[in-house]
Amino acid sequence: MDTQVLIAGAGPTGLTLAIELARRGVGARIIERAATPAVGSRGDGLQPRTLEVFDDLGVLDAVLAAGSPQASMRAYAGGRFLGERRMSDWQEPTPDVPHPNPWMLGQDRTEGILRDRLAGLGVRVDLATELVTFTQDENGVTATLRRNGVQETVRASYLVGADGGASTVRRTLGIPFEGSTDESIRMLLGDVRADGLDHGSGYWFSDEHDLRSGVALTPLPGGDLFQFACPLDATGTEPSLATLQAVLDRYCPDSAPRLRELAWTTVWRPNVRLARRFRDGTVFLAGDAAHAHPPTGGQGLNTGVQDAYNLGWKLAAALSGPEAEAVPLLDSYEAERLPVAARVLGISTALLRKHVAGDADAHRRGAETHQLDVGYRDSPLVRDTRTEPGRLRAGDRAPDAPVVDADGRAIRLFDLFRGPHATLLTFGATAADTTVAEPGMPVHPVLRPGERATASAVVDAEGHAFSAYDVADGTAVLVRPDGYVGSITRSLVSSPSGA
Ligand SMILES: Cc1cc2nc3c(=O)[nH]c(=O)nc-3n(C[C@H](O)[C@H](O)[C@H](O)COP(=O)(O)OP(=O)(O)OC[C@H]3O[C@@H](n4cnc5c(N)ncnc54)[C@H](O)[C@@H]3O)c2cc1C
Repeated sequence: MDTQVLIAGAGPTGLTLAIELARRGVGARIIERAATPAVGSRGDGLQPRTLEVFDDLGVLDAVLAAGSPQASMRAYAGGRFLGERRMSDWQEPTPDVPHPNPWMLGQDRTEGILRDRLAGLGVRVDLATELVTFTQDENGVTATLRRNGVQETVRASYLVGADGGASTVRRTLGIPFEGSTDESIRMLLGDVRADGLDHGSGYWFSDEHDLRSGVALTPLPGGDLFQFACPLDATGTEPSLATLQAVLDRYCPDSAPRLRELAWTTVWRPNVRLARRFRDGTVFLAGDAAHAHPPTGGQGLNTGVQDAYNLGWKLAAALSGPEAEAVPLLDSYEAERLPVAARVLGISTALLRKHVAGDADAHRRGAETHQLDVGYRDSPLVRDTRTEPGRLRAGDRAPDAPVVDADGRAIRLFDLFRGPHATLLTFGATAADTTVAEPGMPVHPVLRPGERATASAVVDAEGHAFSAYDVADGTAVLVRPDGYVGSITRSLVSSPSGA
């Protein structure tokens, strides 16, 4: 094999997957058709669950330093100020959710941070290198690449198509991309500078007589650019600075801000599609290659990052472990991610309908877009018999909690989970069944205050860990490498609550 995993496409999905593989020592090659990294803010809203993934990948500090919270929007009608409101209500962090609010950062800058992290792991994106076609057999894939007109043949154990909505990988496999493209709706989007606007706020400039139609300008962190978005007539003109200015002038007669320096622009059509399968043999689809979203709801980039985060550890385990274990792990990728993508498409499509109908709340986003409630309870990997409503179950996101380590330092459960490994938590001083822990897997007893901490134990000084995991003493909880509960093993000693 020339490489263990060939990744086609270096957008956020491909980059996340490459980091996941590289930090596990898997030989991954990531190729990108474009000669230079993409420019443009596109997916500029990072959801809370993505921030948790970025924490695990080691890029959260850079993302927080480069980005900013969502700005509130100032609404104007015909140039007259109407009021100011937030796109979503500000949430205070809680012990189990340390990053409850979306974070804004232009997609090109997020990708830059991911590329830097990948380079730190010794892997560089092969730019100007296109996947042309491939064939597969039972041992892997033979791919044809093209770089500067020169063809190259590469053998890989696995191929992942992270090559966007027009995916060559999906098309080569002939996997249907089911859904629709609505040609009657067009959105004009761009990154511009605007004279006369405070960059600390977002703006909604609407028609004096029709508050439903207008232009949104949202500030992009790390400079003075705004992301410009407005619906276009079906027969609208080409995207240009003059077009954007003319649209703005229409909504703010006499008082329109002056736009200048169009850094990026596109005309976007709602394309809402889901691949019928996410896997064919040794080939996988991830990100926009598997599901295309409307930008309403800010889900596309986030869902792609989660796909990659779900697939990375499974591919690494399949490549290093016995074949018998590889089959259920690799099968579980589609079983876990396809229903999530279908659900997320439903959420963003409902928001798109609100937007098109001119619903005043179309720009507001609720907790359903945060992806913290994504889980895999129906996964074939789940081993748990707990079914009580409201209780944490296998397949759920493993909550965070503040704890104290054996040296008396305040740390978090997420500190224990960070890294490429799975983690076993055992609760209380009562003996727990630790047989699910594989050799080398960190095992951390979570003790109640007053119990004696050994080297790897932590003390649940404020009671948040016991309450978030909702378990009795002696329970063992396996946390998968991607931060979901893999199994909950009951106490070896029977407890009255039957946890
Ligand atoms: C205007 C707009 C606003 C958006 N807003 C949001 C938002 O707020 N939040 C959000 O989460 N998402 C948003 N999105 C969606 C988000 O941009 C996408 O979901 C995200 O880019 C998908 O990432 P990806 O890596 O799967 O695919 P892409 O980013 O499309 O990357 C695929 C890469 O593969 C490369 N490629 C294609 N074919 C080949 C080939 N044959 N060989 C090699 N390389 C190839 C492409 O050049 C590209 O770089 C928005 C999108 C748009 C257009």
